[in-house]
Amino acid sequence: MLRIFTYLITLFLAAFISEYYFQFLSHTFNKIRTYTLYDGGDSCIEKLKIYSSNFKSLGSFEKGQCKVNNAVRIKAFNNTKLSGDITLSCSTAVQVGKYLKEIDAKTITHMGSYNCRTIARSKIYSEHSYGTALDISHVDGANVKLDWNKNTEKGEILKKAYRVACKYFNNILTPDSDKAHHDHFHFDNGFGLKCYFKSIIK
Ligand SMILES: [Zn+2]
Repeated sequence: MLRIFTYLITLFLAAFISEYYFQFLSHTFNKIRTYTLYDGGDSCIEKLKIYSSNFKSLGSFEKGQCKVNNAVRIKAFNNTKLSGDITLSCSTAVQVGKYLKEIDAKTITHMGSYNCRTIARSKIYSEHSYGTALDISHVDGANVKLDWNKNTEKGEILKKAYRVACKYFNNILTPDSDKAHHDHFHFDNGFGLKCYFKSIIK
């Protein structure tokens, strides 16, 4: 009886400590992330003008844990139409501009940019909370949900879009990553390893 009781107490303490520990780690990670956000400096807006002439500077803003440095709202890039406005930090917007130019995309359908939220089933804030992430569902009519991993012309468009993304973003998630990304690419410039260590480079 005593053995079962000791076992239950140990189990309860382990669960309590690990929950506390994970909360502490998430909280610390979130704090570190906001201190390491890059604002792109004053010259960033000038750099962005090379890639877009249809955007508005919003300055920096904060909402609880969420914070966007040197934010911009972009309606379109010079060679790329967007399905709707996107809000990003200027430095990420410049990377997106360079990226879209290199893949020569004419149209992009996106599923979100800035959005103050945590990662699903986690207490860690998503890169979307800092305006450093973009979700893309279509590139020039190629649909991530339907055309990914297909040996077709549209499949090739997505393959190229993925390969080039590895140059401009630190984290690249595709339908191969997990179920949450079955219908879109997620690109962000948080802490990441680009596409290193991925066994299959598409
Ligand atoms: Zn995303």
